[in-house]
Amino acid sequence: MFQDLINEALETGRPYIKEGEVATYIPELGRADKNKLGISIFCRDGSRFSCGDTKDRFSIQSISKVISLAVALEVCGFDMVFENVGMEPSGDAFNSLIKLEGSNSHPYNPMINSGAIAVASFIEPKVSFEEMLELARCFCQDDGIVLDEKVYRSEMSTVARNRAIAYLLESKGVINGNVEEALDFYVKMCSLSVTAESLAGLGLLLANDGVDPSGKRLLNSDTVRVVKTIMLTCGMYDGSGEFAVRVGIPSKSGVGGGLLSVVDGKMGIGIYGPSLDAKGNSIAGRKILQFLSSQMKLHIFAKK
Ligand code: GLN
Repeated sequence: MFQDLINEALETGRPYIKEGEVATYIPELGRADKNKLGISIFCRDGSRFSCGDTKDRFSIQSISKVISLAVALEVCGFDMVFENVGMEPSGDAFNSLIKLEGSNSHPYNPMINSGAIAVASFIEPKVSFEEMLELARCFCQDDGIVLDEKVYRSEMSTVARNRAIAYLLESKGVINGNVEEALDFYVKMCSLSVTAESLAGLGLLLANDGVDPSGKRLLNSDTVRVVKTIMLTCGMYDGSGEFAVRVGIPSKSGVGGGLLSVVDGKMGIGIYGPSLDAKGNSIAGRKILQFLSSQMKLHIFAKK
């Protein structure tokens, strides 16, 4: 019966695919098939449900910001991270530089490019990319995650805007260490190849307070609480407020078409739908989550 609801949710989202477009500013992402759509749900009781293109690999893109923030909180600590990066939604596009101008302007939050590049610079001297890759595999319960070299090279060939952000941050003393190394680390993290299932695995870890399905604690409770809160307020870029009202499930999107959602205490949801709305969020993914949220009363403030 739950499977029927998931199938229905997918079909509710499908008609919206045609209203969006795949991202093309990273040339390799422009090769994605806009009609792909899949959803996976991993529940705390161990049950798993999937429908559609849930085994297709795509690049994680901005959803890696969740992994990087979690690792930064564990390795560098809350104070170090939030002395340098804010906790407020920016209301601007994910790759905006606007609010970085001004005398004491730090990146608004770790879920937009400027904040994530700063976070990458905090982690990079302490944790190697290979270690991050291994952590991503554990968090997502997916040993198949690798660096997608094509996406990595493609993004590096069009990285001017993120490089501008990185150097602006360096000029403000926000970048810790070598700016090019931080940028490279950031782009590599965005180029990890995942599936809707991997994202459901990551969602379940966060839904379960940082404890994996085998009972092993991978992240501290405090880290997980902070990450989920920032996902709720900032995870959908400048669409975060409307998404919180309509869906009310902490989520993070990426321009590769991925969508990670955490139904606290209950389940992790991963969606793949590379047709994006104007803000860079999976257009069908948003509709699927809205449907599931209302049908299953998953909004964090839904009357139970
Ligand atoms: N790698 C992408 C970028 O920096 C990530 C952006 C995104 O997914 N919104 O532009």
